[in-house]
Amino acid sequence: MTPSPHVIVRIDLARVRDNVAAIRRETGVEVWPVIKADAYGLGASHVALAVREVADGFCVFALREAAEIELDSIGRRPIIAIGPPDSRNAADFLAEHVRPAVSTADEATALRAADPLLAVDTGMQRFACPAEHVAAALIAGAIREAFTHATRVEHAEQLLDITRDRDLKLHAAASSLLHEPAARLHATRPGIACYRGALDVSIRLHDVRASRGPIGYTGFVTETGRHGVILAGYSNGLKPGICLLNGARRRILEVGMQSSYVELGPGDSVGDSVVLVGRGLRESEVAAAWQMGEHQAMLHLSCCGQRTYVE
Ligand SMILES: *Cc1c(COP(=O)(O)O)cnc(C)c1O
Repeated sequence: MTPSPHVIVRIDLARVRDNVAAIRRETGVEVWPVIKADAYGLGASHVALAVREVADGFCVFALREAAEIELDSIGRRPIIAIGPPDSRNAADFLAEHVRPAVSTADEATALRAADPLLAVDTGMQRFACPAEHVAAALIAGAIREAFTHATRVEHAEQLLDITRDRDLKLHAAASSLLHEPAARLHATRPGIACYRGALDVSIRLHDVRASRGPIGYTGFVTETGRHGVILAGYSNGLKPGICLLNGARRRILEVGMQSSYVELGPGDSVGDSVVLVGRGLRESEVAAAWQMGEHQAMLHLSCCGQRTYVE
């Protein structure tokens, strides 16, 4: 996917900061925003700078992500890398002030000097330590903190159970479990919940037509008798679905490589703003129309045009 020069992606950093502050207030525990994958396409360095006053720390997936943006000096908060370690050398992590997540006793031994955390498997069954190996890994790395990637409350409860009586700092909840008190433990690691409502993605209506018979590659017909054209398509991450045009929800009818057809109402004209997300059109609504998860839709939306930042 490449960004379209016609699509404007506006990122509201104040909204991201408000989201993080609200999560911290409402959960009553530490909040460690997840800024992996370039903060879900919103720009990790911008996000880190915007939220550092309200965040207790940051989560990246890999050490490399933190090093690339010099997160330690931008974010000025502790950093953990929650994916499998991308170095076996503790000095690499220490140099960037990043603590690695380990999932085996071997990794824990190799990275002991970098004060690792233990990733505990409670169901994901990928780069995390099964319950029966937890005790050995904790000792090998002199580990003081453990977490699990929980998708259900029971996963957080399992983490508690597996690590009982060990006096560890524990965390489990990502965005989907923020509202479950039993999943909060000592900290949360929200990703998408930090970014909801912060994106406003739009493109100008390039052309306006009265529809006559079957249209486009697929021979679709319009219900309103009018259609428009925008200059962004599937090479920019767009999919047939929904948009907002002069306050009304309209359909994106057919998507080509670098252009798409949009359903129009009677008052819509060339130059009007076609909103792909934002101004009341939620990420979740777009994701449902695109038949994909909200995380994936967020990446399509944040990466489909030129990013600009508003405070
Ligand atoms: C991505 C990720 C998160 C954040 O997930 P969201 O659903 O976006 O909140 C939290 N923890 C881990 C381990 C992750 O990989």
